[in-house]
Amino acid sequence: MPIAVAVIGLGKIAHDQHLPAIAASDRFVLAATVDPAAEETGSPPHFTNLADLLASGCKVDAVVVCTPPRVRQKLAREALKAGLHVMLEKPPCATVEEAEELRDLAARGGVTLYTAWHSQHAAGVAPARKWLAGRTIRSVAIDWREDVRVWHPGQKWIFEECGFGVFDPAINALSILTALVPGPLRVESALLEVPANCAAPIAGRLAMTDTAATPIALEMDFLQTGPQTWDIRIETDAGTLLLQKGGSVLVTPEGIRTASDGEYPSLYARFAELIGSVESEVDLAPLELVESALLQGERREVAPFHE
Ligand code: NAP
Repeated sequence: MPIAVAVIGLGKIAHDQHLPAIAASDRFVLAATVDPAAEETGSPPHFTNLADLLASGCKVDAVVVCTPPRVRQKLAREALKAGLHVMLEKPPCATVEEAEELRDLAARGGVTLYTAWHSQHAAGVAPARKWLAGRTIRSVAIDWREDVRVWHPGQKWIFEECGFGVFDPAINALSILTALVPGPLRVESALLEVPANCAAPIAGRLAMTDTAATPIALEMDFLQTGPQTWDIRIETDAGTLLLQKGGSVLVTPEGIRTASDGEYPSLYARFAELIGSVESEVDLAPLELVESALLQGERREVAPFHE
């Protein structure tokens, strides 16, 4: 029997990735959608809030929460308490503490909680991890620059409290980093540029280390026009490993490997696997780094941001 899944938060990522991935999966069937905007889709049924879905009697086994992060924990808690399996879009919650509470709730309820980090499923990441095994990392340099006006048009929440600002994309880099470099990693210093009219940073840089004091640098910018950059460069004792285009292109001294986008189908395959074995996968390492940077970082006010 396919898993009946409801998508909560029908915005850009739900339309771009989740709905197509569910439609293409033989493990899931779309049972309902939830979003404050009423979409006249007819089938499957649409609800303007989760409480109405839960009260409707509509058969749902799992939900995927694709809302902005600020409201995610409340929705996930409601779903877990109703006995549903939950996949959380990244970042899993507004804070680590919120996510830990969900992890405990899922464990008590015997249901699956899955913190989905789509960039960890980019085609180059697993082969990069394999290539790095047994090699010594000497330094890591991450360059994450994109144009918020192109990729997040109209998304005012991104610069509000709990919107994460430039960390919304940069946490993807951190999710790859924490998948490749054994932790725990530590933020040594952070400089965050925050527009005068926003709560969240628009650019910044982090200096991090691993347990061997390897230097790890992240440069991030949400105002990048022209070519967009999502690159991670890892210097090792056996040469340079480069992940480009958000992890989909891997360059090693032996050659270049590219693959088409399979991140979201891979997330759904993993979610089905976890539900099948009644396990959770709760990876909070990328969010811990962001939280640490936001708490201890030096904030520098910059020009107001206007879309
Ligand atoms: P978005 O386009 O603003 O979509 C969010 C949707 O959630 C909106 O339709 C919003 O409705 C709805 N929503 C808000 N509160 C809700 C609630 N309580 N119940 C149900 N629905 C609610 O944002 P997005 O770009 O899809 O991003 C959502 C999340 O996905 C973010 O955490 C982001 O980091 C992640 N993500 C985005 C991308 C991307 O390319 N955009 C890629 C990967 C991951 P209203 O607009 O009416 O508030």
